[in-house]
Amino acid sequence: MKLVSLKNDPNIKIENNITYYLNPDFLYLPSKGILVKQNSLVYKGMPVTKTLSSPVSGLAFGIKKALFQNSWQVCLVIENDFRELSKKNKMHPVKTNIPNILKCSEEADQYLYSKFKNQTKFTNIIISAIDDEPYVYNNIFILKENINELLEIFDELSFIYKSDNNYLVVKNIDTAIINDCLNIIGTYPNIKLTLVNDEYLLGREDFLKEKLNIKSNTLYLTTNELLALYNSLHRKDSTTILITISGNALAKNIVIRIKKYTLLKDIIAKYLNITCSDYVVIANGLMQGFLVKDVSNFVIDPSIFAINIMQAIKNEEDACINCGMCEQICPKGLDPLNNKDLKYCLDCGLCTYICPCNINLRKYIKEKKND
Ligand code: SF4
Ligand code: SF4
Repeated sequence: MKLVSLKNDPNIKIENNITYYLNPDFLYLPSKGILVKQNSLVYKGMPVTKTLSSPVSGLAFGIKKALFQNSWQVCLVIENDFRELSKKNKMHPVKTNIPNILKCSEEADQYLYSKFKNQTKFTNIIISAIDDEPYVYNNIFILKENINELLEIFDELSFIYKSDNNYLVVKNIDTAIINDCLNIIGTYPNIKLTLVNDEYLLGREDFLKEKLNIKSNTLYLTTNELLALYNSLHRKDSTTILITISGNALAKNIVIRIKKYTLLKDIIAKYLNITCSDYVVIANGLMQGFLVKDVSNFVIDPSIFAINIMQAIKNEEDACINCGMCEQICPKGLDPLNNKDLKYCLDCGLCTYICPCNINLRKYIKEKKND
């Protein structure tokens, strides 16, 4: 598979430290099956809908409509009382062993569970701190924020699953974090710090394995997934998420930890300075993400990992000149203009990125797939 280095704007530089915004006035939870009455008290960790618990304590304020992944939904508004009151009994960490890994990974996330199900041995373990999308830094900052915890559980996994090779993979451009890792990793002689170039798609499991020439039975986790497992084993409720907010329309670019279900507008008002009047807001990456329809009502739910705020560029689409660059760059060797085999498309956006005629091939492919 071909790998591509994307052009980077050197002016988009991320702040070195994580910003924390854990006290929003209101949170907005999608309201399927509300379990609480208006104006009732809610506690942190209390189930307030059939599937969600409240990330804060406060008041069930009411309902309103908001945007979740660009679709309008009715949501429960919780007014924060900033007291973080919880009625849940404190639970003690459980021992890291295979039955508990299965139980806790299943509680954390079905996809995480699927990685451990029916496994008693892994030949290799890869922990990836790579984010694919340009100007997104979540996995590397999760490593920076939790380096001791992550190395501890990585070491335990390598022992439990008797893995022969243990790779902590970091992009070679992340020099500050590499230095942090080097200071600590010496105490874990079986974990190998592995540096890779800043190439697009190495954040995907199959591309990274091919790059590292790893074929046999392998556990692959991102630092985000490993932290979810660690938190579940340590019985820590996760009421927060980490996202990157960056772009050339911002005075500063930040990685920020926020309460789940915070309104994007509130984060922008508190922490960001948009430097131009004509801009676009894109969620989940410039290559694979989507244009936010309404910034004022957009909720950061756990599926959102990045917001890019970019100066608007008016690039008119021209007619195709048959240059063939889209086919040349495609990691799957597809011709995006030819309907054949588009089911193998990764939705990586490279064809759109390279097209000299500004044709939105990714959109075209999606429409064809939906026909
Ligand atoms: S979006 Fe699909 S067709 Fe376009 S480059 Fe990626 S894999 Fe190929
Ligand atoms: S890259 Fe753009 S102009 Fe070139 S063949 Fe593909 S669609 Fe046509």
